Amino acid sequence: DGARRLDKYEIPVEVSGDGAPPPADTFEAAGLVEAVLRCVARAGYESPTPVQRYALPIAGAGRDLMACAQTGSGKTAAFCLPVISGLVNAEAGGGAWSGGGRRDRGSFDRVRVAKPRALILAPTRELAQQIHDEAKKFSSDTGLKVVVAYGGTPIRDQLRDLERGADILVATPGRLVDMVERSRISLEAIKFLVMDEADRMLDMGFEPQIRNIVDRMGMPKNSRQTMLFSATFPPEIQRLASDFLSNYIFITVGRVGS
Ligand code: ADP
Ligand code: MG
Repeated sequence: DGARRLDKYEIPVEVSGDGAPPPADTFEAAGLVEAVLRCVARAGYESPTPVQRYALPIAGAGRDLMACAQTGSGKTAAFCLPVISGLVNAEAGGGAWSGGGRRDRGSFDRVRVAKPRALILAPTRELAQQIHDEAKKFSSDTGLKVVVAYGGTPIRDQLRDLERGADILVATPGRLVDMVERSRISLEAIKFLVMDEADRMLDMGFEPQIRNIVDRMGMPKNSRQTMLFSATFPPEIQRLASDFLSNYIFITVGRVGS
C-alpha cells in the first residue's frame, strides 16, 4: 500500500488510502449504468485505459479521489463516466432547477437559478469545451443536461443555456464565480465536484476562485464526492487535496512527474 509497483499489465502504479476497490479490467466491471455503457461502446472505447481501470471503481464506490496520470491517458472519461452514472443512479431526487424559478414583480422577466448537481472545473476555455463535448457524448442516452461556462466570451449566451437548467456544469473558475455572484448559479446542490488539471489551475493562479467556489457549497466536504485530477503532484496539489478531499484514495498511474 502506497508503494510504487508494476501491476499485472506492467503499468507502474501507486495506490494509497483505506479500502481502495480493485481495478476493473472492463467498463462493465466498473459498475457503470447501462445508458453510460452504451455511450462508451458507441464512442468506440473497447477497454479502459490504465488510469480508468483504477479510477472508475474508486469513483463508482463514491470515494474521494486524487488521481495523477500523464496527459493523454484518458482522465476525462475517468471522471465523466462515474459522475454521469452516479447522477443517473441518484435521478429519483430533484431536477436541474431551484424552487421553480423566481419572478420579478413588475416585469415579465423570469430569472431561473441553475442548480447543477455536478461541477467540473477546468483551467482553460479549450479544456472546458473538450470536457463538455465528452460529457455530452457519454450522457446522450441519459437525459442529463450538460452546460459549459468559460470566460473570454460574452456571458449572455452561456446564461441563456443555463436558463434551460444544468445537471452537469463544466466551468472555468473565473466565469463560474461571476455567474454565482450574479445569482444565476447556485452551488448548494453539488454532489460531485471534479477539478481537472488541478496543477494547471494552481499555476494559473485560480486558487482564490477555487476556494471561493468550494466555500459556497456550504455543506461539509464529506457530503459530496470530490475528485482531483492532475498530470503532476507538486506540494501545492497535496495541500489542495488535504483541504478539499475527505478520506480519499490517492492513485498515480504510469510515469508522472512532480
Ligand atoms: P487526458 O485528460 O489524460 O490528457 P483525455 O481524456 O483527453 O486524456 O484522452 C486522450 C484521448 O484518448 C482522447 O482522444 C480520448 O477520446 C481517448 N480515450 C480515452 N479513453 C479511451 C479508451 N478507454 N479507449 C480508447 N480511447 C480512449
Ligand atoms: Mg485531460
